[in-house]
Amino acid sequence: MGRLDALLRWARADPDPPEYVCQGCEAGFDLRYHVCPECGGFCVGRRQPTGN
Ligand SMILES: [Zn+2]
Repeated sequence: MGRLDALLRWARADPDPPEYVCQGCEAGFDLRYHVCPECGGFCVGRRQPTGN
């Protein structure tokens, strides 16, 4: 799952991360999609604070 690692690294390096994230495929978006354009899932929601 190298793609997930890349996405996590990108999310941490981005100073302004997208507000919404797909909980299915971890794709981030600035807009809230009812259906994730990446994986077609219905689990796009607000990004949760990582607590770091
Ligand atoms: Zn997705």
